[in-house]
Order: sequence, then C-alpha cells, then structure tokens
Amino acid sequence: MTTREQVLERIEKEGIEYIRIEFLDYTGVTRARTIKKSSIKSAMEDGVNFSAAIMDFTMFDTYVPNPLYGPNDGDFFAIPDPDTFVVLPHRRNTARMFCDLVDENGNPWEGCPRGVLKKLLKEAEEVLGGKLFMVYEQEAYLLKEENGNLVPADSSACFSSDGLDIQEAFTQKFIETMAKMGVETEQMSSEFGPGQVEINLKYDECLKATDDQVTFKQLFKHLARDMGMVGTLAPKPFNHLAGSGLHIHISLFDGAKNLFKDLNDERGLALSEKAYHFMGGILHHGKSLAAIGAPTMNSYKRMVPGSWAPAHVCYGAGNRSVLVRVLEPRRERRFEYRGADGTCNPYLLSAALIAAGLHGIQQRMDPGAPLEKDAGSLSEQELEALGIEWIPRNLKEALDHLSKDTVLADRIGRPIWQEFIKVKEEEWNKHFYRVDEWERKLYAELF
Ligand code: GLU
Ligand code: MG
Ligand code: MG
Repeated sequence: MTTREQVLERIEKEGIEYIRIEFLDYTGVTRARTIKKSSIKSAMEDGVNFSAAIMDFTMFDTYVPNPLYGPNDGDFFAIPDPDTFVVLPHRRNTARMFCDLVDENGNPWEGCPRGVLKKLLKEAEEVLGGKLFMVYEQEAYLLKEENGNLVPADSSACFSSDGLDIQEAFTQKFIETMAKMGVETEQMSSEFGPGQVEINLKYDECLKATDDQVTFKQLFKHLARDMGMVGTLAPKPFNHLAGSGLHIHISLFDGAKNLFKDLNDERGLALSEKAYHFMGGILHHGKSLAAIGAPTMNSYKRMVPGSWAPAHVCYGAGNRSVLVRVLEPRRERRFEYRGADGTCNPYLLSAALIAAGLHGIQQRMDPGAPLEKDAGSLSEQELEALGIEWIPRNLKEALDHLSKDTVLADRIGRPIWQEFIKVKEEEWNKHFYRVDEWERKLYAELF
C-alpha cells in the first residue's frame, strides 16, 4: 500500500515535474492527461475531471449514436491510485499513475472498468475463499516501415537463438524498463512470426497483474517508437503470418494453498471442483466473452482452425487448440484462457472472466470431458457429437451473443455493457460498410 504522502515525497525526491494520469476507455485505448506536480495533491484528493462522454468514444475518436453520456451529461473524476505511481525511466522528469473513476460525490462511477474489476474481485474472494492470481501472456510484432508499408522488423525464427539475438536490443531494454516500473518479467521468446516476440510477466494478484498488462501494452508501443519501429499488439497484422494472442493464466490461492488443485481428481487432471466449475462458467459464457476479449474486426482473423489460436469453445489439458487450456499435470494447477488479444480492455476482460467463473461456481457448471484432439481438425459432425460450438466468426456475431448475456450484463454493470456494445457496433458498421481497394479491384475486374 502506497500512501498519498509517499507519492508526494517521491515526486520531490526524484525530481518529477509531470505526472501522466491515465485510464482505459471501453475500446482499451488509454486516455490521459499530463498534470504538473503542483496539481497532483488535489488530483489525488478530488480527482481530475473528464467529460463522461469520452467513454462513448469509438476508435475513430467519434461518439457513438445515442450515447448514454452526451456533451450535456457532466463529468467523472479520475483519481490517481497511489499504488500505481511509477517513474517513467524512458521519459524525462515524468511519472505515471493509473486512475479510478468516481462521480461528483466521490462514489465509484458506474462506467469505470477498473472499478468494476475491483468490485468483482472482492466478491470473488468471498465466494471462492481465496485470492485470484493472473498472468497475461502477450504476443506482439515489431514492425518497420519499408516503401510506405509496414513489414516485420526482422526475420527471426520461432524459439531460435538467432531470433533472440536479433531482437535483444529491444527486448532487453523492454524488460529492464519494465523492472524499473515495478513489473517483473520471467522470460522472452522469439515467437512464430518474423519480428514477433512473446515476453512473459510474473504472475501476481489479479488487479496488479491487470495494471501490469496495461503497462506492457503502452511500453511496448512507446519503446518501439523510440527505437524507430512500430510495436503492435494487433491480433492479425498479416494474412500469411501467425497472429498475436493474449493468453490469461488464472489461479486461485488461499495463502500458499492452491485451491484449483486436487490430486484425487477422478478426471485425472488434478483439478478441484472449484476449478471445474469456474472453467464451466467461462465455457458457458465463451461466445459472449469473445466480444470482450477479442473486440475488434481484426480479432476474428486470428481465431481460425490450425492457427494455435482457438476457434472452438472447449477445454483440454496440454492442448493448444482449445479456448481453455489446463496446464501440464506436473505444473502447478492453473488454466489458460486463450481467446483474447491485445485489442481488449484488460480490466473489462478480467472482470468478465471472473463474472463468468463466479456464475459457474454458483450454478456448479460442469465443463464436461477435456478434448484431446486438435479442435481445428474435427469435422462438423464430430463437433456436434461432442457438443462443441464455434467461437463467433466475427465481431458482430460475438456482440450479438454479448447482447443476450444478461448474467454478464448484471455483473459488469448495465451501463458499461450497453455502451461497450454500442461502441463496438459502431466499429463494425464503419468497417463492414466500407469498400476497400482489394474489394474494388476484385469486383471491378470480375464484373
Ligand atoms: N499465436 C497463437 C495465438 O494467437 C499462440 C501460440 C502459442 O501457443 O504460443 O494465440
Ligand atoms: Mg506464444
Ligand atoms: Mg500461452
């Protein structure tokens, strides 16, 4: 726990002049202001005002039609959380703080994704009798500009030592900067695609892990830009190259006791009832969770059979073709949700995963038998016989599932749920009705 006084002391001691105060909107874009050090005390006490309407921004920086919060609907106040104060080692005299959003009376604001996560974490701790831990595993590409096009920055091969060598200048600077910002990394790999990397963070309590993912998201882009590259978490930047996933490992501990572990498990996966029910809830809500974890047009080009990204709602042990992978038995018991990518708002995603998991616990949902085969190789008949459904094939389909999911709506709060869907539908409408060069050429030549 860091206090406000400690933040003020550090600002003085470390010569900080500017503080970036930041929060994520529903699209996962960080919205921020830089404030002078003279204003940070009042910011921590009363917050910094923003028009509530900015949560109804789409990715194109336009408002959705019929927004819940219009220009006449006043402000919310961003209160910087002292626990998230870090000095930005790669910037001059600048620190950063993540914010919670409150209303004019200082009460949690209904539209705050970080606030919703905090609320659900409290509930989860009571219901589950332990603390949820997470780690986000992000894959990402380093790109460079060549003749006006973006191409992979290098030709690294998967898990190759040469790949590590080529990418070292960036990856080492990245993990050193993360460490100075209080985020520990465990390992880095050269991923499947050229220019693609995976840097694994250390697992932590859910809120800290989620804040760390936001730090990752920003620093990856900022450092790449400083080094003359483009760093991207986009799920499928190239047709012919591997996509970039965001895998989330979930575990549950009461002190040192792993509550997802049970060596007497009859299904042989050494998982506890709690783990099965939690997973059951995630699978039950699998199609609507897609809209939150994979919330862009581009997301659905990644989740196709044969890609190591999931295309079906099922689970398996040591199986990388499924939505929820239980890790190998000799490891600590935990599972990995593979259906997300770096375009999501991590607060909303972890809140939704917890909401789904808690529903599973309360209804004692059974996820059925684990799938042993490659889900992508199964025929429609085999899928039907096993009761396995496809993950939505596009953003619109996913949003339609989320629109019907009243359980998730109630748990993450109707205002966020409703406005998130509006924002994303606007994105779909803008893209779907847009005729691009590829389409123009194809149809103009054929017809
Ligand atoms: N790139 C794959 C994805 O999009 C995952 C590959 C892996 O398992 O590391 O999820
Ligand atoms: Mg990977
Ligand atoms: Mg993984």
